Amino acid sequence: MSKNIKLQETQEGTIVFNLPFPKDLKDLKGMSPIVVQRPYLVDYIYSYGQDSPFFAALSNKIHLGTRCDSCEYTFATPRLACPYCGGENEWVKLPEEGIIHTFTVCHFGSEKFLAETPFILALISFEGVDTLFLTRLIGMDVHSPSLDWIGQKVKRQFIRNSKLLPTDVYYLPSQH
Ligand SMILES: [Zn+2]
Repeated sequence: MSKNIKLQETQEGTIVFNLPFPKDLKDLKGMSPIVVQRPYLVDYIYSYGQDSPFFAALSNKIHLGTRCDSCEYTFATPRLACPYCGGENEWVKLPEEGIIHTFTVCHFGSEKFLAETPFILALISFEGVDTLFLTRLIGMDVHSPSLDWIGQKVKRQFIRNSKLLPTDVYYLPSQH
């Protein structure tokens, strides 16, 4: 009776139909590694926390920074507490246009951006804003970067369908 009791077969994961095995266990020393490809899916739940308004704005094609209530220091990359005076910051809209403060052409990137190399990352300065914003810059010839780009006016664009990522916003030359 007991020999008929078994775990139920399942269809998920790796299903092996045949894996050659040597008669002599000594041959296992020369065995090539088993390599499989399987989909890997996890539900990752996390909170945007205090940054939520920034991403809610991006998804509505609005680019927000923050400004200190007390000393008026203004942050292009938002933070809710002022590191200079400890004051509380308010959300403010960043100007439509900015200036290329500096840039770099990336010929390598993380896996997500690898297919898009070479691409340009730029630090953008805004009038009346005390810190810079790191962002993608498009519409420039990545194959002939020039120091003349520095100081050039840029305007913002948003991807059509927000992904609630910092890459929802990017910049391109104002004359385009
Ligand atoms: Zn302050």
